[in-house]
Amino acid sequence: MNLKDLWVSIIKKLSEELDRAQIITWFKNTAALSFEDGILVIGLPTPFYSNWHMTHFAKMTFKAAQSVEPNVKEVTYSVDNSLNDSDSRTVDILKYFPENQARKLPNKNERVTKEGVVTKIFNQKYTLDNFIIAPENRLAHAACQNVAKYPGQNYNPLFIYGGVGLGKTHLLQGTGNEIMRNDPSRFVVYTTTENFVNEVVGAIQARNMNAIRNKYRRVDCLIIDDVQFIANKDRTQEEFFHTFNALYESGKQIIISSDRPPQELKLLNERLISRFESGMTVDVKMPDYETRLAILHNKCQEAQVFINSDVLEFIAFNVTSSVRSLEGVLKRAIARYELERTSPTIKAIAEMLRETKNEVKMIGFTTQDPAPRCAVTIDSLIDSVSSYFSVPKSEVVGTSRARECMVPRQVIMYLAKTKLRMSLSKIGDLLGNRNHTTVMHSVNRINDQLKNDRQLLRDMNAITKEVGIH
Ligand code: ADP
Ligand code: MG
Repeated sequence: MNLKDLWVSIIKKLSEELDRAQIITWFKNTAALSFEDGILVIGLPTPFYSNWHMTHFAKMTFKAAQSVEPNVKEVTYSVDNSLNDSDSRTVDILKYFPENQARKLPNKNERVTKEGVVTKIFNQKYTLDNFIIAPENRLAHAACQNVAKYPGQNYNPLFIYGGVGLGKTHLLQGTGNEIMRNDPSRFVVYTTTENFVNEVVGAIQARNMNAIRNKYRRVDCLIIDDVQFIANKDRTQEEFFHTFNALYESGKQIIISSDRPPQELKLLNERLISRFESGMTVDVKMPDYETRLAILHNKCQEAQVFINSDVLEFIAFNVTSSVRSLEGVLKRAIARYELERTSPTIKAIAEMLRETKNEVKMIGFTTQDPAPRCAVTIDSLIDSVSSYFSVPKSEVVGTSRARECMVPRQVIMYLAKTKLRMSLSKIGDLLGNRNHTTVMHSVNRINDQLKNDRQLLRDMNAITKEVGIH
């Protein structure tokens, strides 16, 4: 087997354990440089890659190499800056790990229906399945699911309101997508209110109101986004009112979104407001921290990139205005990552955030560059700290709030975060199922106490020395 084939087989073996995003990220521009006397030398493009491979993949790479080629006795790494896509030694990773077929579908934004209506519908990326549910949007999502299943039956009209960037368009289009998937013969039209207003204005100019009436009154489901833009547009309101009534009376589903609830819409046509209120009205709000983090993880998976959990936690913690800005920050982080081929650090993200936001909260986070995680495991850390303070391990990892347990537990949290660089939620899971905020406060508290509590400082030094963390 030549070197390249050998390396390809090893990567394939590794892909049984790693997900595609990791393979693409970390094995692009890598090569097997030599294999002599049982020593396989893997070439990596930058020192950062090398660090990463040694701390994350070395063991499994060795195992995979041995299973492919039993003569491998050792795998070592060497940095070779000249390794890049065009180098004949590197593996064309995308060839072996192609994108999922589904992602290659053209993004059809516009469809022309048999009636000749152009509907700007349906960005396929918006589905009800990839909408992440949080307490703040659960009801809206559930209502959409019901409408998707039983259009025109239970919740009509469905009125969703909330601030910008909180998922209204996603829910609307996701519902439309699903209605059509359940029954492709259904005539579903999505339109922005702006578009509707333009159409009405055009029809008035052309003195042809009938065209627009005929067009909209034939639909099975009308989705109208950002209806607040209808305020002050008297003629459009009138037209919409008639369309609404015609559809409603024949049992057709209407879904509306707005940035505020119906009664605050200040419409000239007040009858429209009561029509809006006659069905189901639900709001969407900014999701909580856990959901924000889940959204980030999800988006990374979709984009097939791998970003450190503590960086994602930092973003989720700091970006609280909208899901759109959350995505915006992540997109910039990904762009940077693709440009510089290094995983973004908390420091880099903090700088990015400071450009647009005055206050960036650093509690519990450190801006040091991600040093290689140290070799100490969380288990041995828990063991050592428990025995140092002479408290049974079961109590330390349990739920007791007695002071004898709290101090060692907080010390473990602090060391797990600052030295082992574990994520807050992981630490919380391991120590009595606590949530990330509790962990963050503990880390912060120990951090503060270390400044003036000399006994704690001595304890900490003794522990880190014993455990072997520096
Ligand atoms: P709005 O229409 O309320 O201004 P959007 O629907 O355009 O907001 O949402 C902005 C972005 O955030 C979109 O890319 C959307 O996919 C994403 N998004 C919002 N909420 C969620 C969620 N709960 N789960 C997944 N993605 C979300
Ligand atoms: Mg929108």
